Amino acid sequence: MQDVVEKVYEQVVARNRGEAEFHQAVREVLESLDPVIAKHPHYAEAALLERLVEPERQIMFRVPWVDDAGNVQVNRGFRIEFNSALGPYKGGLRFHPSVNAGIIKFLGFEQIFKNALTAQGIGGGKGGSDFDPHGRSDAEVMRFCQSFMTELARHIGPSTDVPAGDIGVGGREIGYMFGQYKRLRNSYDAGVLTGKGLAWGGSLVRTEATGYGAVLFAQSMLATKGDSLEGKKVVVSGGGNVAIYAIEKAQQLGATPITFSDSSGYVVDEAGVDLALLKQVKEVERGRVADYVERRPGARLVTGGSVWDVPCDVALPCATQNELDGDAAATLLRGGCGVVSEGANMPSTPEAVDAFLSAGILFGPGKAANAGGVATSALEMEQNAGRTRWSFEKAESKLTGIMQDIHDSCVSAAEEYGRPGDYVLGANAAGFTRVADVMIAHGIV
Ligand code: GLU
Repeated sequence: MQDVVEKVYEQVVARNRGEAEFHQAVREVLESLDPVIAKHPHYAEAALLERLVEPERQIMFRVPWVDDAGNVQVNRGFRIEFNSALGPYKGGLRFHPSVNAGIIKFLGFEQIFKNALTAQGIGGGKGGSDFDPHGRSDAEVMRFCQSFMTELARHIGPSTDVPAGDIGVGGREIGYMFGQYKRLRNSYDAGVLTGKGLAWGGSLVRTEATGYGAVLFAQSMLATKGDSLEGKKVVVSGGGNVAIYAIEKAQQLGATPITFSDSSGYVVDEAGVDLALLKQVKEVERGRVADYVERRPGARLVTGGSVWDVPCDVALPCATQNELDGDAAATLLRGGCGVVSEGANMPSTPEAVDAFLSAGILFGPGKAANAGGVATSALEMEQNAGRTRWSFEKAESKLTGIMQDIHDSCVSAAEEYGRPGDYVLGANAAGFTRVADVMIAHGIV
């Protein structure tokens, strides 16, 4: 890295001790900025990079709640308001035991560039809690969400900060949080949260958007080679919202997804995933992937190794950060995989990304490939502001257009900075310059 960029990275490590995922996310962006700063040195002036890596605001709070047995539980809540150059802070809430300050910081940092790429006028934020909704009753989840929102409500608003879902936060949790926000503020601010139910301000296609977007991004990358997803064998990790709708869109485009996973293992279904059964198990019953195998002849559950051991043409990591390491990347490449499109946030380790880039395969980094979710959240905000509701077709065609624009911006930025086909450089450079130009316009703030 250039001296100026290296210095910023060293400061980040010194100031954010122990936050390995945040260091990783910052390093990846800063490395991409070398050619950008070499060409446009003004981006390194006025401590712009130092300001970019320092969150505007970080909130950490106690979330006390009472479980069904009458015991008081205490969790930790977080919201990071990282950068508001382009619009209100925007980003999901993650409820998972792995959540800590460093995880939220890395996710918030990624969100800045992802949101910039959508061109929807949204800044970067993220939040969550180390609360684990798995195995909790509806009533417990509701009491937790109400307590969480009791503190969060004072920090958010439709023009200030607009949370949404992420791992562990879906329509049910957004509903409980919206109900509590409305009660506290005595104001029906539909645009304060996205991912809402369709009957109370939600947008069609929001549920599908992240998974659909990751597949549309893969399709756009393939199109640059005169190819498509038609007939391709697809390996998908994860069994949540992103994975399910990645599988749906891949099927619609003529591909055959054959896997999905959760923390108990992965399923291989060589005949092609039975989507209706998968939705029944995961969305209706909130069950485990093993429940799918019990009802699906020919499908098998694998509890050792990883889903990346399954040979495929296209890999869609849709689970969580650092789920695909250097060894897994080597295995995928040996198995003939030529396309990776990240549905999750930073699922590939730096070693895996290097392996994909050196092999010259099509690699779509999460901040571009999974931007469909937050882009559709911005469309939900737009509908809320206009007190209107679009058809599925209209929302989907907007999403498709946005994903194509993101793809094309990555391609042009990669070309401009001398590494055609490098979507990592393309996404980081295109996202960064949009935010940086506006930070410069706003002065030293
Ligand atoms: N959690 C999603 C993401 O990582 C969506 C955020 C949103 O819709 O605000 O981008």
